[in-house]
Amino acid sequence: MLIVKKFGGTSVGDKERIFHVARRCVEEYRKGNDVIIVLSAMGKTTDELIAKAMEITPNPPRRELDMLLTTGEQVSVALMAMAIDSMGVPVVSLNAFQVSMHTTRVYGNARIKRIDTDRIMHELEIRRIVIVTGFQGVNKYDNYTTLGRGGSDTTAVALAAALHADACEIYTDVDGVYTADPRVVPTARKLKEITYDEMLDLATLGAGVLHNRSVEMAKKYGVQLVVRSSLNDNEGTIVKEETSVERMLISGVALDRNTARISVIGLKDQPGIAFKLFNLLAKENINVDVILQSIGRENSKDISFTVARSEADEAVEILTQNKNRVGAASISCNKSVAKVSIVGAGMMSNPGVAAKMFEALYNENVNINMISTSEIRVTVLIDEKDAERAMNAVHGAFGLEE
Ligand code: ADP
Ligand code: ASP
Ligand code: MG
Repeated sequence: MLIVKKFGGTSVGDKERIFHVARRCVEEYRKGNDVIIVLSAMGKTTDELIAKAMEITPNPPRRELDMLLTTGEQVSVALMAMAIDSMGVPVVSLNAFQVSMHTTRVYGNARIKRIDTDRIMHELEIRRIVIVTGFQGVNKYDNYTTLGRGGSDTTAVALAAALHADACEIYTDVDGVYTADPRVVPTARKLKEITYDEMLDLATLGAGVLHNRSVEMAKKYGVQLVVRSSLNDNEGTIVKEETSVERMLISGVALDRNTARISVIGLKDQPGIAFKLFNLLAKENINVDVILQSIGRENSKDISFTVARSEADEAVEILTQNKNRVGAASISCNKSVAKVSIVGAGMMSNPGVAAKMFEALYNENVNINMISTSEIRVTVLIDEKDAERAMNAVHGAFGLEE
């Protein structure tokens, strides 16, 4: 069997954890399996590296930021290789260059395009354990790129797909995928199984347990995933096309704090304004999420929308520079907001779902700033200080508890 095993930052956070993972992988290898290990940077390394960059400049060139961030994963793969080597097992660590992990150009949020499998196949043939850096790739200019925060999951799935692996296991610091982040909602229930579509929605709406692109890719190439703890042997959650479990009304509640609300006030009420506004942001690769347009005073309108918190300053700067072009009176930004979403295919045929969510928030006296819905999800934007209370209230209202 060819098995891809991915371990997140906490799972390789210190020497003891590194040896624990090493032992687990060696055990798998000694059963006769081919083992590929994908690792994230140790502990909070990526955050620390970003903080270091910010000490130098608040606006580092994106290429250089990726150059810096990719070092985190290189440290963990080398240390893991040393640990496995010390156990007398043949092993090699490879970074994205050595593998040839080709991505798109975009720094900080690149997509994997193609993986050369020759080197890895050769290493497996000579019976080495292969350890690969997660989160990083190489673009057509031979520069390092990163895949977006949490992107090591995507590296693992991409390798599993490219090498037709028999299993792709994502080891993390919780026992699997829960109905909500168990650190925020203590009564959250672990799911035995979840479909790609439901997991994709949860991940996209903030459930950081899996990188959303990894789920997208798993669905596309039919890679069945297991999410489980690196710290115990508990059964994890299987992510796959169809589940045998009866579908619940909603499958989970997600919280996304990585958001900011930008309000553009006093725009001219005429055709083309929204286009001009959002085109400015699109040209700079800034993704806009929930959008709300409201009627202002005397032939004016206001548009509010959300962007990733990390991109808020840049968005405000672009809009301020173009204030006259779009004819805005003022621009404001609030970074103390959060999005709470409910997700579930069962919603489609049940009209009362959104109202039930709003009632739960009302009972907790949580004010809703913005609402956005689709057939299978409802998202509300609220003050960040209300986030945990809101999550627990909504989770309880839908009877998702253990
Ligand atoms: P890793 O470093 O292993 O990739 P992450 O921090 O990226 O770990 O993801 C695991 C974390 O995801 C958990 O510690 C948990 O707090 C969070 N999380 C958010 N939503 C969920 C959910 N629905 N189920 C499980 N964990 C979740
Ligand atoms: N180290 C990267 C991050 O912290 C990638 C990952 O953990 O998956 O985002
Ligand atoms: Mg992660």
